[in-house]
Amino acid sequence: MKTQIYKIDRNRIDMDIIEQAGEILKNGGLVAFPTETVYGLGANALDERAAEKTYAAKGRPSDNPLIVHIARLEELDGIAADIPIAAKTLADNFWPGPLTMIFRKSEKVPYKTTGGLDTVAVRMPEDEIARELILAGGGYISAPSANASGRPSPTAAKHVETDLDGKIDMILDGGSVDIGVESTILDMTVVPPMILRPGAVTREMLELVLPEVAVDETLLTDDSACPPKAPGMKYRHYAPKAELIIVEGRPGEAVKAIRQIAYEQRRLGYQIGIIATSETIDLYTTGIIKNIGPRENEKAVARSLYKILREFDEEDVQYIYSEAFPQSGIGTALMNRLGKAAGHHIIRAEDITCLQKYRQIVFVSNSDNCRAPIAAALMRKQPLLQEYRIVSRGIVVLFPEPLNPRAEELMKRHNIAWDGYETIAFPEGLSGEDTLVLTMQESQKSKIQSDFPEFTDVCTLPEYVGGGEEIPSVYGQTEEQYEHMYELLLSYVTRVAQRLNEEAKNPNQL
Ligand code: AMP
Ligand code: MG
Repeated sequence: MKTQIYKIDRNRIDMDIIEQAGEILKNGGLVAFPTETVYGLGANALDERAAEKTYAAKGRPSDNPLIVHIARLEELDGIAADIPIAAKTLADNFWPGPLTMIFRKSEKVPYKTTGGLDTVAVRMPEDEIARELILAGGGYISAPSANASGRPSPTAAKHVETDLDGKIDMILDGGSVDIGVESTILDMTVVPPMILRPGAVTREMLELVLPEVAVDETLLTDDSACPPKAPGMKYRHYAPKAELIIVEGRPGEAVKAIRQIAYEQRRLGYQIGIIATSETIDLYTTGIIKNIGPRENEKAVARSLYKILREFDEEDVQYIYSEAFPQSGIGTALMNRLGKAAGHHIIRAEDITCLQKYRQIVFVSNSDNCRAPIAAALMRKQPLLQEYRIVSRGIVVLFPEPLNPRAEELMKRHNIAWDGYETIAFPEGLSGEDTLVLTMQESQKSKIQSDFPEFTDVCTLPEYVGGGEEIPSVYGQTEEQYEHMYELLLSYVTRVAQRLNEEAKNPNQL
């Protein structure tokens, strides 16, 4: 089948195209269209053959009922029975909008549309293109999300095209959607009404107009012994190809944990992806990093979720790590979808970060122009099991200077490049947290201990590796003495790396 694709301007809807799409629907065909939540795959809700086609196009299990979309409130009575008074209040407040209500179905609705259930789910979308299409298509349009079953819901027409091109009659391209997660589903056949799927209409919003609202508690777990009440919620929808893991914890802690895992996974040869936020994106260095939006704008984050998951399906990554988000407002829906995509694989940032003792190693000499920067350079070349920021500092640095020329020659002889190096005074740009300070001699150690008590882990190099001679300055001395200093530093940093690696392998002894 050739799928026709038309761009529609929401502000100047081309009614000829809408009429054409409406005809397709009336004749039992399938038309994908934008709604404010996600793109829907429209079909005539009262035609069971159209429902069969919908399931076939999506590859969706046929016990997973479809939501019937209407454009006018008076249409509700035609398909629903025993409509409680509360539904009227909800419709007044939230329709048109991202709220689906479940009622007992009328005779008119075929079981094929409701997945064999005696109830029917109904929503009145706000999107103008959706509303015009529903009217043109006969008033009752079933519309599940317009993705292939098991793929993230489409938030742009090109996602629909990727999944369903050639399988449906038409796609109306109205640009990117506004909300980006599916509607809230509220079961009105029980008292109090129960949320079966969280969405942009939150429990708090519902409780402003209803005395009480319940939540299907199975939504938050992955316990197959208690299936969720909305049949569709039991499927592992929204599953990206890579394994997705959510890292929960304060943003700063989550960044540390994800960096730590990313370093290790890459060392083991895996490609990894990271779902970061505008606030944290610059803090990541390893892996394919995507920005889901500003943490402070939870709506923008929700809107980007499915797009990002789809983008990761195009990348060659085995694992994706995502920061977690607060479960308030649309955050509840966002975390519900992210949790499902992750198969509820959630780890606590603290459980990871506690396994790494140091994240920063600082080598300290007097002037930071020879011994300390050489030690730092040698340390960076060590095979380290964990990631560290490795820097050098000097106790007495009055202004930035380049490396001492004899040290530079030494480094050249050992093929270590030194472009644009400048000395820095201790403790500029450092914090005491997660930091190991290694000094050349006892004198630098005592100076730091007395002047900078916030640095709690300060050792001389010999002390840290269990003994040996100090590393005195070789300033003004012979080439041999420079070489000797180099060899001494190399043997120390090799042992430092061994000790850090041992500790990384046995984190419980930290
Ligand atoms: P989608 O159309 O992809 O947003 O999926 C529709 C969701 O609504 C699925 O999770 C369905 O299980 C749910 N749903 C539709 N009709 C009913 C119903 N009568 N009772 C409970 N859940 C329903
Ligand atoms: Mg869906």
